[in-house]
Amino acid sequence: MLNNVYDVIIVGTGVSGLYAALNLENQKILMITKAKLEENDSFLAQGGICMLKDENDYDSFLEDTIKAGHYENDIEAVKTMINHSRETINDLEKYGVEFAKKDGKFIFTKEGAHSTNRILYHEDITGKEITSKLLAKVKDRENIELVENATLLDIFISDNYCTGALIRYQNKDYCINAKNVLLATGGVGGMYNNSTNYPHLTGDSLVICYKHNIEFKNVNYVQIHPTTLYQETKGRRFLISESVRGEGALLYNSKYERFAKETLPRDILSNLILEEMKKEGSKHVWLDMRPLGKSVILSHFPNIYKTCKENGYDPLNKLIPVVPAQHYYMGGVKVDLNSKTSVNGLYVLGEAACNGVHGKNRLASNSLLESLVFAKLAARNIIATNLPLRKDMNYTYNEDEMKRIRDKVEKMVKGEIEYELPRN
Ligand SMILES: Cc1cc2nc3c(=O)[nH]c(=O)nc-3n(C[C@H](O)[C@H](O)[C@H](O)COP(=O)(O)OP(=O)(O)OC[C@H]3O[C@@H](n4cnc5c(N)ncnc54)[C@H](O)[C@@H]3O)c2cc1C
Repeated sequence: MLNNVYDVIIVGTGVSGLYAALNLENQKILMITKAKLEENDSFLAQGGICMLKDENDYDSFLEDTIKAGHYENDIEAVKTMINHSRETINDLEKYGVEFAKKDGKFIFTKEGAHSTNRILYHEDITGKEITSKLLAKVKDRENIELVENATLLDIFISDNYCTGALIRYQNKDYCINAKNVLLATGGVGGMYNNSTNYPHLTGDSLVICYKHNIEFKNVNYVQIHPTTLYQETKGRRFLISESVRGEGALLYNSKYERFAKETLPRDILSNLILEEMKKEGSKHVWLDMRPLGKSVILSHFPNIYKTCKENGYDPLNKLIPVVPAQHYYMGGVKVDLNSKTSVNGLYVLGEAACNGVHGKNRLASNSLLESLVFAKLAARNIIATNLPLRKDMNYTYNEDEMKRIRDKVEKMVKGEIEYELPRN
């Protein structure tokens, strides 16, 4: 049973939702997730999280980010992300997150399109390490009520203020009143047959915001990851982290010839792999992890090693079949640098949002960082703005209408139709 008034409703228990909640002390918060608490893409992140290691790396970090983004990035957003990276990592360590270190100093790894090593990691389960520690802290907070298997259906908007949310829980619909609503619903992988994402991440914030005429940005900017494990079965695709290639793994076609530089930006490399597969009529290409050596494979990539082995490919002595798959959504609901939409009291965080930080293509390991940095800025903005509670909640939910909107949004994301707002 849910209460009916909160200061803040947060939808989603990935890194962005959790970190926002932790930065909203003294607020009465309802946090919901459609699935189990741990079932989100944040738990799946492998490679790591970027950090500005010292001031000398500032220009290079910025250049790598905007070069990968085809220079379509919002520069202020990129600078904000980089400027807040150290503070974010300090916070994570305070919450108990452990990153790989040697003699007390961070070890930095590298991924595609990075000109230097600047990525912190925890084996190949960095996302699980960060998200599980944040979740544990959230569970300790008395001001936060966490509810799993509860689905956001719609939001209420009155006079350009978001006044609450319509939530389905245990087959009942609840109209919940709040001063602020934060949508942290993740990406759009559930719209695709082949994706590394959880299938329940179906772009729900986009659908709901579209209904309310809230603008999107870069609607069809979808990232395809070059290397996921090729499997005949249906379902979520297992990612072979880019840092495997960053550390020296090589790609081969079916004739065991190299055909592309392994550390190219994701979009370029994905296209080269797809072209090679088309040329050869093959279902996948091959990845050779053996150049990394046994100790690096076992210590840095134990999870990838185990999963490949379970699928019949031992990375220590065999090539792994890999194929590109949908991975990340650079577009999203248009927000400012405080993650605020055009509607007062409505914020969108993490992969669901677009402030332009990634441009046309995300640089590896910038997503966890972006999700965290802009979640904290949203929390600060909420506290500074201090909106009063407005009780007017307009009920306009209609299942058939939502289905029609969902179909249209999906077509826009996939680039099948032009982006346009309904403007009713
Ligand atoms: C396999 C994989 C590896 C990755 N590796 C890295 C990496 O190494 N480094 C990096 O920076 N990034 C990586 N990423 C990307 C990164 O993990 C995600 O972009 C980031 O975690 C997104 O966080 P989020 O909080 O926006 O959403 P998520 O963590 O996806 O959480 C979304 C939440 O919203 C909930 N939700 C959705 N719709 C509803 C609804 N209608 N009602 C209620 N709840 C809802 C979900 O249940 C879930 O709790 C990886 C992604 C994948 C899939």
